[in-house]
Amino acid sequence: MSIKVTNLTKYYGNYLAVDDISFEAKKGEILGFLGPNGAGKSTTMKIITTYLPPTSGSVEVDGFDVEDKSLEVRKKLGYLPELNPLYYDMIVTDYLEFIAKLDGVPRGEIKKRRDDMIRVCGLESVKHKDIGTLSKGFKQRVGLAQAMINNPDVLILDEPTSGLDPNQIIEIRNLIKKLGKEKTVILSTHILSEVTATCNRVIIINKGKIVADGTPQELQSKSKGQSIVTLEVKNNCDKNALLGSLKEIRSVNKVDFVKDTGDSFIFNIYGNHGIDLREVISGKVMLNKAIVLSMQAKQSSLEDIFRELTK
Ligand code: ADP
Repeated sequence: MSIKVTNLTKYYGNYLAVDDISFEAKKGEILGFLGPNGAGKSTTMKIITTYLPPTSGSVEVDGFDVEDKSLEVRKKLGYLPELNPLYYDMIVTDYLEFIAKLDGVPRGEIKKRRDDMIRVCGLESVKHKDIGTLSKGFKQRVGLAQAMINNPDVLILDEPTSGLDPNQIIEIRNLIKKLGKEKTVILSTHILSEVTATCNRVIIINKGKIVADGTPQELQSKSKGQSIVTLEVKNNCDKNALLGSLKEIRSVNKVDFVKDTGDSFIFNIYGNHGIDLREVISGKVMLNKAIVLSMQAKQSSLEDIFRELTK
């Protein structure tokens, strides 16, 4: 069971929301779609789940094209949309039976599937309640239960833990990890810790483009390739001249002016991993007759690489 996305592009009118992305997801993979709000995550998920047509490119789910074979694709998929469209005046058991019928679960199996989902998603204590009266966490679990009621091979979960409290987040993450062993799961999030906690592969998407693809460990080790020095100097110096001379340092890859605090300037200076840039930076600061207020060196984290790739 796999998902194959090839050169997928989506325009809303003139607006390019998804820009020529390609990737594959395989069974047993929990693939995290990580990116800031507006990156194109939901749009990509809506196309994979056949709710939106692509402008160009293709998506195949288990070899079935989402445009030509949308019914086959829907049978294989469970989808938790970002705005979980539940029927608030139905009780949980009735709602799950209703969705099971819609999803084509054979008549004789409906009650069993319903009860399985109630057990797997921890809904026993609320199964006779109106959905509208449930807490956000339980509503999200009902959303997951409806996504899985037809035992799909592929689960597409749009921001599955959004709005949950920390305990509920841990429970839903554990549930997803358990499911991910037998299925192909794609989940989207704008929270970095979500992917490191749940996913075994991460695709970082920004402005409709894939900017990184790998295991959390691979991305982490890539990010270890840099050392960063944060430099704060008094603002009575020539900022542009200092910026220029910091950029001249041979082992420096990049210099960002971070901000003017009102009485100081702050810079981030990026160099190769393992090189301590502080001594040579001090020399440049002195040459520019600037006064150092603070200077801190660190190795970049996954968070830095995410910010770096998505700003
Ligand atoms: P994400 O899920 O990463 O937050 P989306 O896929 O929802 O991003 O949106 C990507 C971009 O497309 C955003 O700039 C959003 O405003 C725009 N967009 C989303 N849906 C529509 C739509 N129906 N019509 C026009 N623009 C849209």
